[in-house]
Amino acid sequence: ALVVVTGANGFIAQHCVAALLQEGYHVVGTVRSASKVEAVKNSHKRHPGLDVVVIEDITNAQSYLDVLGPLSPAAVLHLAAPFHYNATNFEQEMMIPAVRGSTAILEAAAQIKSIRRIVHTNSFASIYDASAGPSPGKIYTAQDWSPLTYEDGAQADNAPAAYRASKTAAEKAAWKFMESRALGFDLVSLCPSMVFGPFLPEAKPKSIAGVNTSNLLVWAAVSAGRNSALIPTKGPVWVDVRDTAEAHVKALRIVEAGGGRYLLAGGIYCNQELADVSRRLLPKYGDRIPIGEPGKRESHTHFGVSTAETDKVLGIKWRSLEQTLGDVVPQLFEIERGQ
Ligand code: NDP
Repeated sequence: ALVVVTGANGFIAQHCVAALLQEGYHVVGTVRSASKVEAVKNSHKRHPGLDVVVIEDITNAQSYLDVLGPLSPAAVLHLAAPFHYNATNFEQEMMIPAVRGSTAILEAAAQIKSIRRIVHTNSFASIYDASAGPSPGKIYTAQDWSPLTYEDGAQADNAPAAYRASKTAAEKAAWKFMESRALGFDLVSLCPSMVFGPFLPEAKPKSIAGVNTSNLLVWAAVSAGRNSALIPTKGPVWVDVRDTAEAHVKALRIVEAGGGRYLLAGGIYCNQELADVSRRLLPKYGDRIPIGEPGKRESHTHFGVSTAETDKVLGIKWRSLEQTLGDVVPQLFEIERGQ
């Protein structure tokens, strides 16, 4: 079967493409400029099962229809959306691509008869209520919803808030679209927490500036220098990128997953734990990894999460922080050295 992956050059998407190819699917990746086509092909060693096409504007349903319609795909993984904190015009740069991007692919799919399932990569940001504060004792599940609206995002006073609103509004728009008419496909929503983990070897960024937003949180926590204070933990829930990709493939395959919303989380963490684990695994970087207050944990100071429903339906065996950091931290130091 043919599966479309939007934003195929992205951090999570590159692992989704690899997992799909590994499982024998044919994959058509979309990127937004011609220069990325060859890079994505090379990331997968020019695998014969992979094609890459350009969709310049992810908010334009007609362009999806024109490019993807003739290929008769069976399913779509929609990952393309801004995840960075560099925007200055939040409505233009975050809200519109996220929200209209979310519905444009559904509008196109409504006219492509071969499509049976769409998987949207939403976020813990569309679950978590930042306004409720740390809420120790609260356990978030995929039943919870962030209260943020489109207007909250457009008028936000900081980029992370605009990002959280963009994910919430985009997911709400998708479910609303699904309710509005009879369709030949169903929707699965995946809500990953902060995704950490290695890049595919052939897709390693050339410099730290090219590292994606969530892995930059790891880098900031483990590279500041032995005697530096640890910076505050930003989003205290994490998941491995390879587990995230496995969840995407299972979300395509498992019939009963249709119509569901699934939180992806390996556990909660704090920056001190990132530093402690990295220092233990990678003593050679000891001069860079902040010592802080070894063993101090913030887990009791804020909410927790439950993935019980995800475990039941998708059955992921979540990697440990040791496994993830052991693979990503050395890679980040290599990237810094330009290797
Ligand atoms: P990356 O930044 O690595 O990839 C984002 C992808 O989306 C790239 O292909 C990028 O294209 C594309 N994109 C971004 N903005 C636009 C835009 N305005 N128009 C067209 N394409 C755009 O991010 P991740 O792999 O981390 O994220 C992928 C998805 O997963 C996103 O939807 C994100 O919100 C979601 N997510 C990520 C989490 C994480 O911790 N990483 C956690 C939860 C959800 P280009 O390279 O050309 O900019």
